[in-house]
Formats: sequence, structure tokens, C-alpha cells
Amino acid sequence: MTSPPLPRRVALISVHTSPLAQPGTGDAGGMNVYVWQTATRLARRGVEVEIFTRATSSADAPIVAAAPGVTVRNVVAGPFEGLDKRDLPAQLCAFTAGVLRAEAMHKPGYYDLIHSHYWLSGQVGWLARDRWGVPLVHTAHTLAAVKNASLAKGDTAEPMLRVIGEQQVVDEADRMVVNTDTEATELVSMYNADRGRIDVVTPGADLDVYSPGSRDLARAELGLRGDETVLTFVGRIQPLKAPDVLLAAAAPIIERYRAEGRAIRVLIVGGPSGTGLAQPTALIDLAADLGISDSVTFLPPQPSDRLAQVYRASDLVAVPSYSESFGLVAIEAQACGTPVVAADVGGLSVAVADGGTGLLVDGHDVEDWTSAIAGLLDDPDRLATMRRNARTHAEQFSWEHTASQLLTSYSAAMQSFAARNPAAIGAAAARHGSRRWRRRRARM
Ligand code: UDP
Repeated sequence: MTSPPLPRRVALISVHTSPLAQPGTGDAGGMNVYVWQTATRLARRGVEVEIFTRATSSADAPIVAAAPGVTVRNVVAGPFEGLDKRDLPAQLCAFTAGVLRAEAMHKPGYYDLIHSHYWLSGQVGWLARDRWGVPLVHTAHTLAAVKNASLAKGDTAEPMLRVIGEQQVVDEADRMVVNTDTEATELVSMYNADRGRIDVVTPGADLDVYSPGSRDLARAELGLRGDETVLTFVGRIQPLKAPDVLLAAAAPIIERYRAEGRAIRVLIVGGPSGTGLAQPTALIDLAADLGISDSVTFLPPQPSDRLAQVYRASDLVAVPSYSESFGLVAIEAQACGTPVVAADVGGLSVAVADGGTGLLVDGHDVEDWTSAIAGLLDDPDRLATMRRNARTHAEQFSWEHTASQLLTSYSAAMQSFAARNPAAIGAAAARHGSRRWRRRRARM
């Protein structure tokens, strides 16, 4: 029996945001972490990964050897700075030209597969797939139709242009990778996708970086008091993430703690993204209106080792998002042994074990959120049990597992593509038959 085909080299496309950017602000978030973590894990298994992203600074070198086996190619498409994500569709032609030119510098058949992330990249991948004659695997990360179905207060609907663009990519991709069964169902019901071409691949957390540790030490490092209760929000400051819901829900709890002479702090970690609530001042104003400014601390986006200290320092992490295709923050917090109170939406319903490692709250009614958070804080035994369960639950979600599942999806894409394009079989067979390839294949 012959082993399933595996790619030697993958072109990974991430147009709108670079895996080298600091996540937690602007357009950089979970997708950046996903792209970086899976690229490095694939590379460790012998798959060379080249990531194409848009250059956003004149200081960006065109080619960056980012990690062993991982190259980042900064493609010039439009002005470096000041270009809004909504204006990127107009730069897709320039970006695609950059991708095609980079490939043309090599012998034909340089890449075995394309994996595009977010619909803008899917548009590029679709054309490159046709030019190079290799399969396209696509991950949407978020879907406009899903986001529009549960818009946050003050948020603007995603434009029809995006819905149409997403639909084209769903129709064209050889395989789609989604985070959860729910997302697979959404793709089928909202985009008429073929369920047989969808692979559910669970994202992960870096379980070495995000691990339990001393709370006292973490608090000392962050300048937090050892005796205060700490409620934390981590993520981009935008309506979809609903940090305002946490502030409003925390206000009566803070008032009660004050009356009882106990200390409590809400920690908001992350930077602005988009407009409206995303303005840094909007949340500061809200805290002032609620009369809780003294008990709220804002921290700018933190690198992962420092973010791990934030999770360790926290009694609870809240993820009140209106929609979330997965919610890496929830897994990372639990990996550090911290329970999570999350909205019962999207991937968060999988990421949090309701009643075991935290609570899932239905909807965004502030009173519901106050009672969920206060209920846990008032029950230290229950909270302690959740702390003990959290790490074990998070261990199901590792990037190594994600990389294995991605390789299975890549194999399926290569097989079905070859079946439909007989010319590709000869090329793949020639590669797979080579001694060097067989040696590499044995290491995977
Ligand atoms: N993040 C970070 N530093 C911060 C805030 C967030 O590194 O200060 C990272 C966080 O570790 C997580 C990602 O940003 O991996 C956010 O991913 P999530 O899936 O929670 O939300 P998304 O950004 O995809 O909406």
C-alpha cells in the first residue's frame, strides 16, 4: 500500500496580516498566531513553508528566514502604511502578481500545495492554484454571514463584496479547513459548501508557553496586588469582542467588593482594532461613566510569555465575544490553569467545558454576566476545582495535533486534485519516488 502524498513545500498565503506582527491589536490576532504556530510545526515535520504576506513597512525585508523551514515573503502591494483592511480588495491584483513572480523564479512545480487564510488570501490562492496546477486548501477564520447574523451593538455589517468573495473561494477551494463542527455546518447552510470537502481541524495553544505557574510571582511581575481579585479580558478592543460587557457586568461586583472592603481589579489587555468602541478612549470613558476607573487597568498588547503571566495572575478570564470562530484566548487561559467565563457562541462552546473549566453564558445581558462571574467568585471551592480541571482540558488542544490534522487534509487535497488532474499524478509520483523524498517522508 502506498502512503498518502504529503507536500514538500507549501505556499501559505496571509494577505492582510503578517505572522510576524504582534497579535492583540489592529488586524493582528488569532489568525497570526494560527499561521505562525502551524507553519513552524509543519516545518519541524519536514514540510518547507513559505508565507506570503503584504509588506506594511519600508523596513520589511522582501524575504525573511523567520524560523528553520519557514520563510516569510513580504510582497509589495499598495502603500506600506495607512491602508485599511477594507481597501485591500483593490490591492489583490498587485499582491497576486508578486506571488506569481516569486514562484516564477523557481523551477515549475516548486510548491505542492497552497493554503490560504481569510477570504482575501483565498482570492489570491484560487488564481495561483490554476496557474501552478496544485491544490488549494482554504481556511476562512471568520465568515461574514456568521458575523452579520450576530452583530455587536454599534458594529457595522460586513459588506456584500466580502460575502461574494467568500462564496467564490468556497466554490473554488479543493478543501476547506474549519475550526469546529459548528463552522462546518455554517459553511454548508450559509455558503452551500460540500460537506465532503470540509475538514474540521481544531486549533491549539502553545502548551509550553501557556502553562500553570506561580500566581504571586506573576502578579509581582505585572505590578498587581497579591490580595485582590483579578478579572481579565484579553483581545483586540473592538465591538465584536464586547469588553464593554465585561466592564458593565463587573461594575456592581466592584461596588459590592468596595463596600465589603475587598480589593478587585479588571484587567483589559489588548489594543484597538477598527472603529467605534475600538477607539482607546471609548472604554476608558465607559469605565469612568460606570464609576469604576480606579479598579480598571489597561495594558497594551503583550508578547506571549508576558501574556502567560497575565493569565496566571487572573482569577477569571472573560471572553464575552458576539461571535468567535474559535477563541484562542480561552484555551491559553485554561492552559495556564485559569477558568474562563465565555459567551456560548462559535468555537467558545468547544473551548470551554461548561461547568467544568468555566461557564458559558447565553447572550450578552449584563445581569446574566454579573451573576455568572459573581457566582463563581463567591464559590472559591468551585473555582478551585475549575482551576484544577482547566489545564487538563486545554491539553486536548495542541498545535502539534493541529499540524497533524492539517497534513491529513493536505494529503486528501493532493489525492483528489491528482485524481481530477492526471498530469499532476506523474509529477507527484516522480517526486515521491525520489530517494531524498522517501527519506524525508519516513521522518514525518
Ligand atoms: N494576543 C497576544 N497579546 C495580547 C493579546 C492577544 O499575543 O496582548 C494573542 C492571544 O495570545 C491569542 C490571539 O492574540 O492567541 C487572539 O486570538 P483569539 O482567537 O482569541 O481572537 P482573534 O484575534 O482571532 O479574534
